Amino acid sequence: MSDDASRWKDKYLSSLEQQEKLERRWDARLDLLRRGLVRSSLAAEGVDRGVDQCMHELREILRRDDIDAGLSALIPRLEKAVLDSEQRRQERVGQVSGALSALVDQLLKLELPREARKPLKQFAKQLGKRAEQVRELPALLAELSHLQAQALALTTADTAERPGLLERLFGNRDEREEPAVVVSEPETPPPLSPSPSTQALASAVDEPVPLPEPSPAVAAPQRPSQPARTPSLDSLPLSARLLLPEPAGATQAVEAQAVPEAESNPDYALPAAPEPGYSAIASHVEATLLGLLEELPLPAYHQPQADLLRTRIQAGLNLYELVPVLDDLAVLMLAIADVGQREFEGYLKQLNERLASFQGGLQDAHEGYAESMNSARALDIELRQQVDGLNSSVQQATDLDSLKHLVEERLDGLIGTMSQYQRQRDQREQAVVERLQTLVERVASMEQEAKGFRDHLEEQRQKALLDPLTGLPNRAAWSERLDVEMARWQRYGGELLLAVLDIDHFKRINDDYGHLAGDKVLKILAGELAKRLRKSDFIARFGGEEFVLLIPSTPLEGGVQLLETLRESIERCPFHFKGVRVTITLSAGISAFAAGDRSTQVFERADQALYRAKRGGRNRVEHD
Ligand code: GH3
Ligand code: MG
Ligand code: MG
Repeated sequence: MSDDASRWKDKYLSSLEQQEKLERRWDARLDLLRRGLVRSSLAAEGVDRGVDQCMHELREILRRDDIDAGLSALIPRLEKAVLDSEQRRQERVGQVSGALSALVDQLLKLELPREARKPLKQFAKQLGKRAEQVRELPALLAELSHLQAQALALTTADTAERPGLLERLFGNRDEREEPAVVVSEPETPPPLSPSPSTQALASAVDEPVPLPEPSPAVAAPQRPSQPARTPSLDSLPLSARLLLPEPAGATQAVEAQAVPEAESNPDYALPAAPEPGYSAIASHVEATLLGLLEELPLPAYHQPQADLLRTRIQAGLNLYELVPVLDDLAVLMLAIADVGQREFEGYLKQLNERLASFQGGLQDAHEGYAESMNSARALDIELRQQVDGLNSSVQQATDLDSLKHLVEERLDGLIGTMSQYQRQRDQREQAVVERLQTLVERVASMEQEAKGFRDHLEEQRQKALLDPLTGLPNRAAWSERLDVEMARWQRYGGELLLAVLDIDHFKRINDDYGHLAGDKVLKILAGELAKRLRKSDFIARFGGEEFVLLIPSTPLEGGVQLLETLRESIERCPFHFKGVRVTITLSAGISAFAAGDRSTQVFERADQALYRAKRGGRNRVEHD
């Protein structure tokens, strides 16, 4: 065999060996993959019937030798089954979270104290996100059942004292700790017979169960002409409740009846439009944001960011894009605030420099004065020398002509000195006048600028003290005024009353007619209240649908009478919704300052009186 042939033979044998090695490795991998697939298919079983069937077939195919043909037939079917299963899972999540929300809404319709309402609202907020995880469902159910038990226990505990407003706001944490929401290991709740929806949910965890139509409590508000049949009054929307005979002695805070044509004043019409979805206000939001961007006094180096933001807004925003756009806008606003701060620092620096130059000007004026004193002294010496010279010239003169000549010469010298002095003095005076003029102008412009700053600061302060929705003073303004009135009362004595007013069942107004209507009601009520007060009275929006009132120089009976007038006038406001009269009422509590009182104590008493007014049926005034 030639060398060449033997080299080729070796090469062939080595390739053959390589090939066998590769084949062995391939077989081992295939085996691993097979086992992996079988295990995975077993693990995935039990989620969906269609997917289970495919998994079963997959295992069958994997047992065979020729898996290629089987797999290429199965994979498209498996893909479809997985997609269908995912879709069904999404539907189930929707149903579960819908049913849980319905339960929470029903609970929220009960008149719950804040400590029960807050965890329920928190629960409702997280619901959508958590319900997406199937493994979360048992924990969600356990939590809800716990909250339900708590809520029911609290609503029935009628005798329990309700905490005052201050306590509700600033809360004595030790005594009224929020009930903890148990997530991982829920406490065993007291035995409660599960509601039908809870049962439906429990089974929805394992298997999709078609849920009933939403209960009336979560259905869209019905028109007054629709019949209402559910026995629980509180769970009905307002418009349906209105069709039922009013329970004896119960005062409906928000009630509606057909409005006579004459009463349908458009000023009191509640907006009939349903709560708008984001798309309905998107163009308005975009226009407002663009306007805001236009108005922002941005420094040049932030302009590119603003341009980018403008392009994003102009391209149209959906709800999900809105949040990052607002975040970026906030960053720009902070940058402006920073620039404002730097501008102010710059102004202070400039002011410092101007004061320094002002001082320099004064120094110059002083030096000018000293200089003129020196030159006056020099003139004096010069004049004396000239007169001395004249004197000696007179004595030395031998004849009248030379005397005349000498005197003329000396007089010329004297006049020359005088007029030179006068010229110099005029120049100096002119320079001093100019310097003083500059100083006066500088002082005037500094005063002008300082006034501009003062006015701007005052304008900002006033704005910060007003509630933008109602135009009434806000809580910060209230605190300021309370301090002033307290100090006046402590100094001069007399009478001072404090009242707390709260719109009755305001939540229902929002629920039944939407937040826009709620806002309109707040605005109108604020105006109605304010226009009935004396100049010396002070009303503020304390927060939400609560107002506070300071009434100086008035005895308690007078204050109660005033509140009665306010209460009646609000009750008489001809609000209407789609032609149906809507009566809105408020409750109030009032208390008088007594010797040694701190304002928080008076507030607390007025708030307790308000609470009694609520408990007494609402649309009432109570005093302590
Ligand atoms: P009560 O008679 O016991 O006072 O019942 P209520 O429904 O008035 O009291 P609650 O405190 O339960 O509800 C107050 C509601 O007022 C809840 C909140 O959504 C609503 N609210 C607070 N501020 C505003 C606002 O500026 N605009 C609107 N539309 N609603 C507001
Ligand atoms: Mg309230
Ligand atoms: Mg209220």
